[in-house]
Amino acid sequence: MIDSMKAVYDEVVTRDPGQKVFHQAVHEVLETIADVAALPKYSGASILQRIVEPERQIMFRVPWVDDAGNVQVNRGYRVEFNSALGPYKGGLRFHPTVNLGVIKFLGFEQVFKNALTGLGIGGGKGGSDFDPHGRSDGEVMRFCQSFMTELYRHIGDHTDVPAGDIGVGGREIGYMFGQYKRITNRFEAGVLTGKGTGWGGSYGRTEATGYGAVFFTERMLDRKGKSLDGQRVVVSGSGNVAIYAAQKAQQLGAHVVAFSDSSGYVVDEQGVDVDLLREVKEVQRGRVADYVAGRPGAKLHTEGSVWDVPCTIALPCATQNELDESHARTLVDNGVLAVAEGANMPCTPEAVEVFQAAGISFGPGKAANAGGVATSALEMQQNASREQWSFDKTVAKLEIVMTNIHDNVARTAEQHGAAGNYVLGANVAGFVQVADSMLAHGVV
Ligand code: NDP
Repeated sequence: MIDSMKAVYDEVVTRDPGQKVFHQAVHEVLETIADVAALPKYSGASILQRIVEPERQIMFRVPWVDDAGNVQVNRGYRVEFNSALGPYKGGLRFHPTVNLGVIKFLGFEQVFKNALTGLGIGGGKGGSDFDPHGRSDGEVMRFCQSFMTELYRHIGDHTDVPAGDIGVGGREIGYMFGQYKRITNRFEAGVLTGKGTGWGGSYGRTEATGYGAVFFTERMLDRKGKSLDGQRVVVSGSGNVAIYAAQKAQQLGAHVVAFSDSSGYVVDEQGVDVDLLREVKEVQRGRVADYVAGRPGAKLHTEGSVWDVPCTIALPCATQNELDESHARTLVDNGVLAVAEGANMPCTPEAVEVFQAAGISFGPGKAANAGGVATSALEMQQNASREQWSFDKTVAKLEIVMTNIHDNVARTAEQHGAAGNYVLGANVAGFVQVADSMLAHGVV
């Protein structure tokens, strides 16, 4: 990293020494955008120093009562990172590992990702260390109501529009929307995305992140004269992104053979039964073992890693830093052709280096998983015009957005002498768009 970038990075680390994943996300961006960020118009306006500092960070107590009558206390967060391109936009994560550093990493990534969509949205992220696993619907509802009782004053369709992420799906968005409506006495559909399709949600939003990651993979393969047809695919995770990545990959002729959760991974050589997986995960809220119980021939592994399963396409769709250097080497040795991040920063920096050195097409999350937030922006468009588009119309628009992101990122990489480097292309293209708007707005 050149000196001017290192100075910015060192200041980030000194200010918040404990925020390791945030440092990692900043480092990855700074080391790829040096040529552009050092231009006098940007450096003279301290764009970098401003872009790494959130515009606003909100932390709050979330007290709620569990089914046994005990008072529980969680911590809530909303980091409003950058509004140069539009209202803050980004999901809410409910997971015990959530802390301010995790939310800042996700918010920082979101700024660049949202810029790449071209849909006029700023970047933000939020969540809580609440763990919905094993909680009753009543407990989840009371938690969501308490969370929204603080959050409501900070959000709005022109201010900040949260959505889902790990641990936050349609159920949680519904409870939070209900509480927002009750407190404000306003049916303000555009305040949250990922809503149910019966009350302001967009068709295709549930599928969007996974579908988008697969569309992005298709475009990367196309550049190499290949297609998804007949490819052997492994996804990690078995949540929202993983399920619909598997579904779209199958629809495009691929053979999806493995998935995981935090209890282990499953290999199903017949090809994953996505309907069964949806039933287990979305309806029963079960574990991967429950899939195996209903699927003769599928095998559960509780040792090793899903990345040990040979494949030509790898789609990490679980969580940050889940795929490390040794996993990457295994994948390369097993003949992987393309890796697209459905999750945010699932591959460690060392793993990314292994893929790039081996000439594997590597799609970073801020480009490859942008389909979710892009479709959230389409949901906002539908809410603003009081329309509801069909599933096919929305997915067709999603596919166009993903193609545009791919082509913009690939072109930017080429223009900067790094053909095929989607990491550099995404960071530079996202940075320029945000930085130019920040310049136009003056020192704010
Ligand atoms: P879900 O909560 O629906 O699913 C998460 C999945 O990942 C679950 O199968 C979960 O298993 C697994 N997982 C989570 N943490 C771990 C861990 N530490 N080790 C192993 N497995 C783990 O979340 P999403 O599918 O919505 O999100 C997945 C990723 O995609 C996240 O990185 C998120 O930020 C990113 N993303 C999501 C978008 C969306 O629209 N939902 C948009 C863009 C990115 P278990 O149940 O056992 O914890």
